[in-house]
Amino acid sequence: MPRSEPRGGDDSRRGSTLVVVTLLCVSIFVDAPADVPLAIERAARAVADGARMVEWRLDALAEDPDGLVAIQRLLAESPAPCIATIRAEEEGGTWCGDEQTRISILEAIGTGDHPPAYIDLELGAWNRSANLRQKVRLAIDHAAQVRDISTRLILSSHDFGGRPANLISRIADMAATDACAVGKVAYMARSLRDSLEMFDLVAERVKPMIGLCMGEYGLPTRILAPKFGGFLTFAATDDGAATAPGQPTVRDLAETYRFHEIGPRTRVYGVVGHPVAHSLGPRVHNRGFAAANIDAVYIPMPVAPGWESFKATIGECIDHRRLDFGGCSVTLPHKEHLLRLGRELGAEIDPLAERIGAANTLVVARDDDGAVAGLRILNTDATAAVESLAAGLDPDRSVGEAVRGRRVAVIGAGGVARAVAAGLLAHEAEVVVFNRTRTRSENVVRDLREHGAISVGRTMDELACGCFHAFVNATPVGMAGGEAADESVLPDDLRLDDSVVVMDTVYTPRMTPMLAIARDRGARIVDGTAMFVAQAEAQFAAWTGQPPAPGRYAGLLAGRDGDRGESA
Ligand code: NAP
Repeated sequence: MPRSEPRGGDDSRRGSTLVVVTLLCVSIFVDAPADVPLAIERAARAVADGARMVEWRLDALAEDPDGLVAIQRLLAESPAPCIATIRAEEEGGTWCGDEQTRISILEAIGTGDHPPAYIDLELGAWNRSANLRQKVRLAIDHAAQVRDISTRLILSSHDFGGRPANLISRIADMAATDACAVGKVAYMARSLRDSLEMFDLVAERVKPMIGLCMGEYGLPTRILAPKFGGFLTFAATDDGAATAPGQPTVRDLAETYRFHEIGPRTRVYGVVGHPVAHSLGPRVHNRGFAAANIDAVYIPMPVAPGWESFKATIGECIDHRRLDFGGCSVTLPHKEHLLRLGRELGAEIDPLAERIGAANTLVVARDDDGAVAGLRILNTDATAAVESLAAGLDPDRSVGEAVRGRRVAVIGAGGVARAVAAGLLAHEAEVVVFNRTRTRSENVVRDLREHGAISVGRTMDELACGCFHAFVNATPVGMAGGEAADESVLPDDLRLDDSVVVMDTVYTPRMTPMLAIARDRGARIVDGTAMFVAQAEAQFAAWTGQPPAPGRYAGLLAGRDGDRGESA
């Protein structure tokens, strides 16, 4: 077991620079002695993937009659410095034995041949039991006397119901306890704003601190721990193996979010919506930043539906200087809210976004001191959709030339359909809008009529006899996991040949049922990835002021799981 690894989160001076190494710590439950070999194997794999520390969750193992021997083996063979934790039931663990037994196991661990780098104990238990305090101090002192590396104490507190009312005094208690080397607070976040408070608490720590919010709203605290100087962040070995709600995997952190590259000056971007957990954005934009050598990270930023939660959360992100928030992609259900927020804050708003009545991109320009220097609101969906369709119609001509005068059926009347229709009208195409609910397509036509030739398709059957150059699906029909995953919006009797382009905005899967049928009938097809890539590239350019390398984003999506698609 390596003995001289950095202890992480320790503020140490290198020359005149304060260096804080935030550790990526894999947390592993070990339930029974028979599980020890596999647990060591999983830990070794996590270390190979980028973990620098292991937390052994011994709650259940410690209750086994042969548990102590198994624990000693885990500690001896741990592939990285480790934390030993026997978490009590009242703080989210499964240990329900008596406190005396827990104390004697911790004492045995600390005074054994292979003491862990850290023992984690709840602040509540520490404050309750003088006996426990004495025994843990003995274990720590023993290790310090006989080893070249001492065991240290993490005092922790966990709240699964939300932010505890006495959070600040708990942190002060941890700071005031001499034996406590690292303070840890973890609570269930109810919104992203809880994460913002946690960033400040960690950044203003008086001793090394782990500050993590649990649940989907807490993910930013786990990813951004290095930005604020957190001691460590916990991660799971695999999906489904998390030891706390909202824990990402080691690979997510190390590969998708480039955890080891994040530092105090890293600029933060994200995808705002609800839900956002399955967005392709983090995978695509983080690799885009890496390829361009830009110190930035892109994270999921779930914001509950409703104007008030959107306004409050994004407003706080913009104002939070430490966060270095550079902007975001905005998706359902907040695209209209973004436009409204832009108007309220006096942002520069792209005319196409105004025309569509919705936006998907916020750019926050900052000066060298981090103060907000300007806000811009864009809709990159519209231009992306038209560019993708134009490439399918005629790749050898400009977007305007390829699209002008073409008759296009847009199916759907939601935000994407509006963006597609507005983008097409801006290039003088003729648009007919078809939708399941007629009043919604009428509203789209009413709102866009002054900008070009647009009309309502009276019935879906008209799709088959409208003599269209192109069809664009802007509904979720065909989307994997959706309610109409196996369906196509095009009528069965629609005649197609290779003079017609069929485009889907759905990009999961790439080859939707509609595209498969269209291809089989001889039409040219454009899958939703083309639009996704084009809108993401436009966002990258808006945030960084530089275009992505040609083909870079498209290359990032090639070989995506389940991809069997192709584009015209
Ligand atoms: P939205 O605002 O919720 O609108 C959805 C539209 O689809 C509505 O007009 C709805 O009709 C219609 N619809 C829903 N289910 C239907 C069904 N089973 N049969 C027929 N029509 C149905 O959604 P949006 O924001 O416009 O997004 C639409 C799709 O665009 C998304 O599902 C996503 O796959 C795709 N998208 C792609 C990209 C990209 O970059 N490629 C980006 C964003 C979105 P009603 O009015 O009758 O409810």
